[in-house]
Amino acid sequence: MSRLPVIHCDALVVHCMDFRLQKFLHPWITARFGPENFDIISLAGAVHDYEMVLKYVQLAVTIHGIDTVTLINHEDCRAYGRDGTYKRHCHDLLDARAKINALFPRLNVETFYLHLDGVFEQIG
Ligand SMILES: [Zn+2]
Repeated sequence: MSRLPVIHCDALVVHCMDFRLQKFLHPWITARFGPENFDIISLAGAVHDYEMVLKYVQLAVTIHGIDTVTLINHEDCRAYGRDGTYKRHCHDLLDARAKINALFPRLNVETFYLHLDGVFEQIG
């Protein structure tokens, strides 16, 4: 069986599916990593479903040798509903970061809270 050639990108970005944020996300991500240098997944609530996030982190490490994972939760996330306080988002982001770092100590894991006005606040 022949192996596929190794291909690489720097980052996996995880953000929410929410339509209100796409106009902020894509320019920011592209400016940060370059236009052809990231994997991206869009999940309702972003890190809300940690097990799903982990699946993609494992895959991106295996097939693209990523160095960085960027986790972006956001203000007024309807996937969280009324539980989606600022405090809860910060907790979940930092918890996901700690779990990913425990499994992949060489990965740089960044955490952001995106405000509805387009401001990216770094958490932790
Ligand atoms: Zn959301």
